[in-house]
Amino acid sequence: MRYEDFHRRSIEDPEAFWAEQAQAIHWHKTPDKILEYDNPPFRRWFAGGETNLCYNAVDRHLPARGDQLALVAISTETGLTREITYHQLHREVNIFAAVLKSLDVGRGDRVVIYMPNIAEAVFAMLACARIGAVHSVVFGGFAAHNLALRIDDAEPKLLIAADAGSRGGKVIPYKPLVDAACAEASFPPPRVLMVDRGLDPDYAKVEGRDVDYATLRERHADAQVDVTWLESNEPSYLLYTSGTTGKPKGVQRDVGGYAVALALSMWSIYDVRAGQVMFSTSDVGWAVGHSYNVYGPLIAGATSILYEGLPTAPDPGIWWSICERYVVRTMFSSPTGIRVLKKQDASWLKKHDLSSLQYLFLAGEPLDEPTAHWITDGIGKTIIDNYWQTETGWPVLALMPGLELKPVKFGSPGLPTPGYNLRVIDEVSGEEVAPNQKGVLVIEPPLPPGCMTTVWRDDARFVRSYFSHFKQLVYSSLDWAIRDEDGYTFILGRTDDVINVAGHRLGTREIEESVSSHPNVAEAAVIGVRDELKGQVPVVFATLKQAGIAATAAEEMRDCVSRQLGALARPARVYVVAALPKTRSGKLLRRSLQALAEQRDPGDLSTLDDPNALEEVKQALARGADAGG
Ligand code: ATP
Ligand code: MG
Repeated sequence: MRYEDFHRRSIEDPEAFWAEQAQAIHWHKTPDKILEYDNPPFRRWFAGGETNLCYNAVDRHLPARGDQLALVAISTETGLTREITYHQLHREVNIFAAVLKSLDVGRGDRVVIYMPNIAEAVFAMLACARIGAVHSVVFGGFAAHNLALRIDDAEPKLLIAADAGSRGGKVIPYKPLVDAACAEASFPPPRVLMVDRGLDPDYAKVEGRDVDYATLRERHADAQVDVTWLESNEPSYLLYTSGTTGKPKGVQRDVGGYAVALALSMWSIYDVRAGQVMFSTSDVGWAVGHSYNVYGPLIAGATSILYEGLPTAPDPGIWWSICERYVVRTMFSSPTGIRVLKKQDASWLKKHDLSSLQYLFLAGEPLDEPTAHWITDGIGKTIIDNYWQTETGWPVLALMPGLELKPVKFGSPGLPTPGYNLRVIDEVSGEEVAPNQKGVLVIEPPLPPGCMTTVWRDDARFVRSYFSHFKQLVYSSLDWAIRDEDGYTFILGRTDDVINVAGHRLGTREIEESVSSHPNVAEAAVIGVRDELKGQVPVVFATLKQAGIAATAAEEMRDCVSRQLGALARPARVYVVAALPKTRSGKLLRRSLQALAEQRDPGDLSTLDDPNALEEVKQALARGADAGG
């Protein structure tokens, strides 16, 4: 079928379209209504239907493909590879589910999973799904404080952790981080289930709280745990965004809509069907890991490859050797991952037989053209940039080779995927912009199946964060975009500006908050300014409450940021001004500030409230950093 027809139908007749897609999964009870949309922007897909993610990912495949590999968990850190069939996965998940129940975890209870990228993390997720518990996986690389924040928001009944992760051969003990997080949290979990990998065998146990998985596993070795059927809109999991504005947002996902969206994406976008193999290099702690290391491939009856280790160890050909060995059809990685390989000899791309590999999908950040060309030439495969967010759970923009492969345009993640009614609109007026004009990428509600249903326990925040940027009710992606005359969309960065300092993403808002905590700062705008060495550096424009002590204040602001956010975030320059340029609606015009700081044209200033503010900025730049106004 033609892509255009498929997409048009999903927008013009969403109920018929999604009713058809819903047949790809098993329903214990058929939905009463495909879409309920009487309380915008909230919507309920497949209302009244009952299903279960674990059943669709595991049990359902047993008759036809029980002996096929479901999961291959490869660790180049420990040297261990585990090949797990659907039968074996079923076994492990039943045992894990029985262990959860024995710890009094049930439907609706939250379970925080803080683990490295290993098979037990997948068992734990699926076991939660089986019994209707709501998992919240926290990326194993997060520090104790980040873990504590997520614990306090989710209020879990149980935390599941491993003794340690490993990176580049260096063991990173998790238990001290878990203990520190539990000590910091106001709602620490009453129980901690420890999966001991034997990497840090002597970790300290907390009596009465910590339990050992291996012991309980033995006790429940023959367990069969019934699937708990959930209404389509019950929460399946929470996944926290990194939260540049303080408290992280708990992205809440449903059950039925998510399963249906993943099933559709697996064949139409990733072109992977039952019996085929998908290799995503992501981590279960991220959205890609949830959707395309765990639920997506398993719902499709495919084989999923999970990888713990560096892309360069034992050698830079490791990913391609995995593709050869397991006959991988579709691979999924990130531009960063490819840039790591780009630093190595390109001959590593040629050492393995990649005849099974059809596509390499890349997502998570802009795919720069040099990198896209380098990898396209290097492996001679179709490289597909795809754009999405933790919030959406699956691609918003992509090409769909399973349906019809449209030409790749370098620099663009392609075309809207089914159900996404996208517009590029003017930041201030909210009007759709002309082709090739910059605007904000927005989604016309209702959001399609698979996207977040709300912010955990905070409906108001869901509306405020995503749906209140324009006078009309639209979901703002908070990303800049342009759309060309063929409908290809190009992503130009975030409206709330995350800057990249020496490869680290820093939220400018976070730095602004830190600068603003200085007692003499009235208001601050932080932007990323191009820098030869670091890519970008943070630069501050601030207004003071009390004029005349600009130089000392500037140094104190820098110290403030270093102390609170680390040396990387330390502002390179601080400019004290009498006023900051703002739009009429009161939004800071960061892009104009940035343009001026980079000696570029500040662009369209029709939205500027006070022209003097811009003059102020120009004068401050001419005077130099740290000087008073
Ligand atoms: P937070 O929302 O907490 O600040 P985050 O936005 O970095 O975190 P994600 O949801 O993982 O977390 O990232 C989604 C964002 O990543 C998108 O909004 C976009 O800015 C960027 N992005 C993802 N894929 C692409 C892509 N293919 N091209 C360009 N940008 C992309
Ligand atoms: Mg985001």
